[in-house]
Amino acid sequence: MASIDNYNFNGKKAIVRVDFNVPLDENGNITDDTRIRGALPTLKKILEDGGSLIIMSHMGKPKGKVNPKLSLAQIKDAVAKALGRDVKFAEDCANADEAAANLKPGEVLLLENLRFYPEEEGKPVGIDKEDPAYEAAKKEMKARQKDFAKKLASYADVYVNDAFGTAHRKHASTAVIADNFSADNKMLGFLMQKEVQAVDNILSDIKRPFTAIMGGSKVSTKIGIIENLMDKVDNLILCGGMTYTFAKAQGGKVGNSICENDKLDLALDIIKKAKEKGVNLVLATDCVAADDFSNDANTKVVSVMDIPEGWEGLDAGPESCKAFAEAIRPAKTILWNGPAGVFEFDNFTGGSRAIAEAIVEATDNGAFSLVGGGDSVACVNKFGMADQVSYVSTGGGALLEAIEGKVLPGVAAVKE
Ligand code: AMP
Repeated sequence: MASIDNYNFNGKKAIVRVDFNVPLDENGNITDDTRIRGALPTLKKILEDGGSLIIMSHMGKPKGKVNPKLSLAQIKDAVAKALGRDVKFAEDCANADEAAANLKPGEVLLLENLRFYPEEEGKPVGIDKEDPAYEAAKKEMKARQKDFAKKLASYADVYVNDAFGTAHRKHASTAVIADNFSADNKMLGFLMQKEVQAVDNILSDIKRPFTAIMGGSKVSTKIGIIENLMDKVDNLILCGGMTYTFAKAQGGKVGNSICENDKLDLALDIIKKAKEKGVNLVLATDCVAADDFSNDANTKVVSVMDIPEGWEGLDAGPESCKAFAEAIRPAKTILWNGPAGVFEFDNFTGGSRAIAEAIVEATDNGAFSLVGGGDSVACVNKFGMADQVSYVSTGGGALLEAIEGKVLPGVAAVKE
């Protein structure tokens, strides 16, 4: 694998996979340009070296079909502004030969949404997994994916992957494409390098105590990482919607709270494992319960074990916030993924805010803090604390898989 730090792009055409899957409002205006800003160091380095740039990304989930609402044409001007130069646009990412061939050093071409082609994700469309013909369809699609990746690769001399958000996917543009480049002409971008380094800090150079905070809505989507972290952390805070599955599993009454009834045994198992491994498991003891799933609902603080009928826990209570902060403040390594409540409602941000504040305090005292996953990042942004933690990851699923210890296809592909 080459290294972007000392690669000279002069006179080369570089095709760069970025994650420009930015949120848009109903008029197609970008509401958060973090992802565009995140890729700038890589894009600028290529242009400043005297290379030309072919930028490719997905946006949303068009499921292999052209969808104007998910067109990257909508962000062309924002990319041009961020780069301070004109950006050409290729309306068909798989037929951009001429536009790519005509690029001169310093010029930029943005390809249309890769996922307008099913080949990008490489999953057969319109056929059920149970269908006996599925395996054959999958094989055929994998072959088409290879061809699609080859086509993208043909536009350029060098491939750079700077899309951490999709690095856990083996898609045409994130992994398969790399087979078409020699080892010294493929590499990670600066953003990817930083992300990989941040995960490495968490996994290999753990300064103790290590506190992980996992929140969000469900246990089921986080179980892989919870089990993996159990071997590494000193303190494990499980909060958010998961709270109520744990409370019910221990005999509590959870009212209308979000609860995975088929995961009660799993919750008990996690409690048992934490004990066996000597991990200090911190679960919420009280919550802010609401009589409706709305910001303006009536609220009261109750025990998580005794939530009245018709009420639901939407945020961590004051006693829980105190316990969370106590497990976070002395930590020297911190990982936060998932909010402690329905932080989208301003009246239910208390738990997440208490966590963010304690993380900032610990970071001030020398801890390495990594915040990742869309919702916790939205939390620190909402609280204006993003620049007060050590690292804010752009990856959700990719970050979790990396921390679970899985090899990310997007990283592996350029290393091979
Ligand atoms: P996840 O995608 O699993 O990380 O979950 C994030 C979502 O969990 C956010 O949209 C939160 O609003 C939601 N969430 C957090 N706490 C609760 C709760 N107590 N009840 C319902 N949803 C919650």
